[in-house]
Amino acid sequence: MAGKKPGPASGIEGKLARLGIRSRAELAFHLPLRYEDETAVFAPEAAPQDRPVLVEARVLKPEVAYRPRRQLVVRAEGLVLRFLNFYGSQLKAFQRAADEGLLVRAYGDVRRGFFGVEMIHPRYRLVREGEPLPDALTPVYPSTKGLSQAQLRAMVLDALELAPLEETLPPELLRRHALQGIAQSVRLLHQPPPEADTAALMERTHPAWRRVKFDELLAQQLSMRMAYRARRGRDAPALPANGALLKRFLAKLPFRLTRAQRRVMAEILKDLALPHPMQRLLQGDVGSGKTIVAAIACLAAVDAGRQAAVMAPTEILAEQHYRKFSDWLAPLGVRIAWLHGGLTKAGKKAALAALASGEAQIGVGTHALFQDASVFARLALAVVDEQHRFGVRQRLALRGKGETRSAQARTAPHQLMMSATPIPRTLSMSYYADLDVSVIDEMPPGRRPVATKLVSEARRGEVLARIRAACGGGQQAYWVCPVIEESKEGDLQAAIDTYAALSAELKGLRVGLVHGRLPAAEKAAVMAAFGAGRIQLLVATTVIEVGVDVPKASLMVIEHAERFGLAQLHQLRGRIGRGSVESACILLYASPLSQAARSRLKVVYENADGFEIARQDLALRGPGEYLGEAQSGAPLLRFADLEKDEPLMISARDAAEALLDADPAAAERHVERWLGARRDLLRA
Ligand code: ADP
Ligand code: MG
Repeated sequence: MAGKKPGPASGIEGKLARLGIRSRAELAFHLPLRYEDETAVFAPEAAPQDRPVLVEARVLKPEVAYRPRRQLVVRAEGLVLRFLNFYGSQLKAFQRAADEGLLVRAYGDVRRGFFGVEMIHPRYRLVREGEPLPDALTPVYPSTKGLSQAQLRAMVLDALELAPLEETLPPELLRRHALQGIAQSVRLLHQPPPEADTAALMERTHPAWRRVKFDELLAQQLSMRMAYRARRGRDAPALPANGALLKRFLAKLPFRLTRAQRRVMAEILKDLALPHPMQRLLQGDVGSGKTIVAAIACLAAVDAGRQAAVMAPTEILAEQHYRKFSDWLAPLGVRIAWLHGGLTKAGKKAALAALASGEAQIGVGTHALFQDASVFARLALAVVDEQHRFGVRQRLALRGKGETRSAQARTAPHQLMMSATPIPRTLSMSYYADLDVSVIDEMPPGRRPVATKLVSEARRGEVLARIRAACGGGQQAYWVCPVIEESKEGDLQAAIDTYAALSAELKGLRVGLVHGRLPAAEKAAVMAAFGAGRIQLLVATTVIEVGVDVPKASLMVIEHAERFGLAQLHQLRGRIGRGSVESACILLYASPLSQAARSRLKVVYENADGFEIARQDLALRGPGEYLGEAQSGAPLLRFADLEKDEPLMISARDAAEALLDADPAAAERHVERWLGARRDLLRA
């Protein structure tokens, strides 16, 4: 046998594997993508043109035409069929059919063209007169190259005979959610009976679809809740909220917390006081004031004699956190280490040593904070800011961090993730099912809405005048360039050129440039200069997208706004409108602007609420696009639709908790059936 293994990609097994099918059970659950209605047949002249239909006509004469390009043209009574790709055997078969007076039954879209009724590349069969029609819908399966619908259908029906479609869910659960049996549902979807509701099958609202979608959603909820419970079952240091530092800080806060801030603070402090790791997501629109809540949580750790880590996705944001935390907490005697790219070797060594000895109580940095050999002596809380900016892999690594290896095995730190990307409810229920979620749904007082305008690049002169006026009046401005990939030289050059051009056009203004490829120290210096007002106009890439907070900046110009995502535009715009003066955001676009781009941008300038923008963005782009990289490890739903199936999603979420409590073995079987090998991916 040496050397000649049957290649897995070669045979039928390889083809099935490409479809994600590795077992008979998976084959039985390979459900139709859609259905075709071949129960009614039309004469060519009577065929409706608004949908694919089955048309029947007597074959007259096949021939190969060469204009406008080589093709097989089959003339039938009242109907012409065209095949641009065809085999010689097809020509012969049609020839025989014409000789024997057979009929062609073709399924597809019908077109009334110059030569009468035409069908291009229909699926077809040659039949004798009077051949019975199928009496039920024909399922069409997701397939792959070299695997025909007929082959696939035969295998699925075989699998249905042999695979035990046992019920995974207890009868009470089915009753409570008005669900029908799984075996019955799956069989019906593969072989719909003639009397089944055709429209409901096609639109996937039929009770059989409902059951399958419920199962899928339930499996996803179960797997995430299992992961949640497993982590929650570990030990964590309890951090009671009665420490002296926390009390002193709360007594002299720099501003009065909003009601929403007080509510989420209470939720977080309650979790921290328990001896099990918190796994909480703090959501709040840009500017809603998440940072101070994080600082309060960190104080609880310090009060308990432990350490906290604060992680940000960019150096700029990490520095800003370091400064804020220092302003707020250093007066209380809290020692903070800042791990950043600009440190000298010795500086870095000292910072790491301070964390390792416990001398530093809070560590602030980018993910490098956890990458290096950095070791925290007594880490009790990890805060991850703008967590959606970290990739799936990084997030997994972060979740694993701080879990002590030796002494107290199974101890994990509390985790607080923060995100300003508001996501619609159903998506959040699905994507964050393994976290507890706190939401800040209120802005600090005194915020002024940002006036957003859509302006053509042709009016750049007016925009420059506006920048001059704002800066002349003591305000500051951002000019954001559409650098998509900072690693690409060419992309970055555009920002550098813009900087040069603006410096020349706006003589007398102090213009600065910041982008992701600048050395950390330089980046920090530029941001510090902007923060202090020494730079008036900051030309920037999206490195300023998250978190940057300069209240005097009241004007933002976003160049080529049409190239940005909506959530991103909203984030960028959130950098202004933080001070007391009226702020404006100018979305500069290159003409002509497509209708689609215009309606996208309209969502941003008509809405100030991040959740509403997120909802419309989701509707425009779908969840995959919407969540971008972050989505890659997230639940992939094959059958359920997060928008249409919200009620089912809510049922599945409730059922998941109930099943985990009542019948963990059933929960395990259910997850195994639906996710099998994919389950680890879903835990990212
Ligand atoms: P984000 O939620 O986007 O991270 P920040 O925490 O950066 O928002 O807060 C935005 C700004 O609002 C900061 O300057 C912060 O100090 C200020 N801020 C936060 N909470 C309040 C409040 N309750 N009252 C007034 N200002 C606040
Ligand atoms: Mg922030």
